[in-house]
Amino acid sequence: MRIDFRSDTVTRPTKEMLEAMFKTAVGDDVFGEDPAVNALEQYAAGMFGMEASLFCPSGTMTNQVAIKCHTQPGDEVICDFLAHIYQYEGGGIAFNSGCQVKVLPGDRGRITAAQVADAINANDVHKAHTSLVCIENTANRGGGSCYDWTELQRMQQVCRQHQLAFHLDGARLFNAIVAKGENPLSYGKLFDSISICLSKGLGAPVGSVLLGKKAFIDRARRVRKVLGGGMRQAGYIAAAGLYALQHHISRLEQDHIHAAEIAKVLQQAPYVQTVLPVETNIIIFGLAKTASAKRFVAQLEKKGILGYAISPDQVRLVTHLDISNDMVMHTCDVLRRMV
Ligand SMILES: *Cc1c(COP(=O)(O)O)cnc(C)c1O
Repeated sequence: MRIDFRSDTVTRPTKEMLEAMFKTAVGDDVFGEDPAVNALEQYAAGMFGMEASLFCPSGTMTNQVAIKCHTQPGDEVICDFLAHIYQYEGGGIAFNSGCQVKVLPGDRGRITAAQVADAINANDVHKAHTSLVCIENTANRGGGSCYDWTELQRMQQVCRQHQLAFHLDGARLFNAIVAKGENPLSYGKLFDSISICLSKGLGAPVGSVLLGKKAFIDRARRVRKVLGGGMRQAGYIAAAGLYALQHHISRLEQDHIHAAEIAKVLQQAPYVQTVLPVETNIIIFGLAKTASAKRFVAQLEKKGILGYAISPDQVRLVTHLDISNDMVMHTCDVLRRMV
């Protein structure tokens, strides 16, 4: 048995999802004629009460398209120093948008409204023009941490006062929504644009959706084409995404329970220094021995359990749709016995 906790991106479509893909009608989406893509875009926009949405091949593309549409070259983008857009998108902010980034030291990947207010550049020819604030919920490198709702509201006020666009990298937004008992409609009111991933915890094979106002999504559609992201009979994968939005959201709670069970074992383990608080489906723990993360991951792999060394001292495990109760129990047993 191989138990893969490297990421929630490793899931395979379920039988029901494959059936939805197989049965769907398709057309040429670059002509706007793919009924499944249109249905997904409408459904996603409706969930968030936003005017329109755009289906893209990846979350990197939805984020990068959003940043491009919110900024001009030479602008400055504000985000946490652990943000995916800054750490893991290949320098895309500079490459695609010609912007620079002001990174802020947040708490487990989360920045505050006060930090943002302090980071906005004055209207001064020496300074880059601050035009965009990006936040991540849940915050991946923060260990799947969730934002506090009132802090997000304060941040929106700061953005409004300074005419900054407010973008949410919601690769795992549904994990936060389920964990905190929130409503997607509230998120739709707070942000100018939201990116959600269908291929993470929701279990679709491919795809992300960018949400926003109609005029913004019209511009985003142009940028997606420029980046080579206009897909033709994309309905086959859109059908999987729609199925995921309709059937795989409330079950995320199970992933959160699994993560909490594993974290409980790790907290007692002699080889673990710290476990970041587990709020959703991500477990990040620091090892007692320095620079031993790679060795630990290799040891685990010999026992058929896959994890990911995210730094010399830190290991990440992610629970998802393809992790069963039995797999979690077995993993807990293995972790209890390791030294
Ligand atoms: C996975 C992820 C993305 C998008 O990644 P892709 O692999 O391009 O789909 C964006 N933001 C965060 C926080 C992520 O975890």
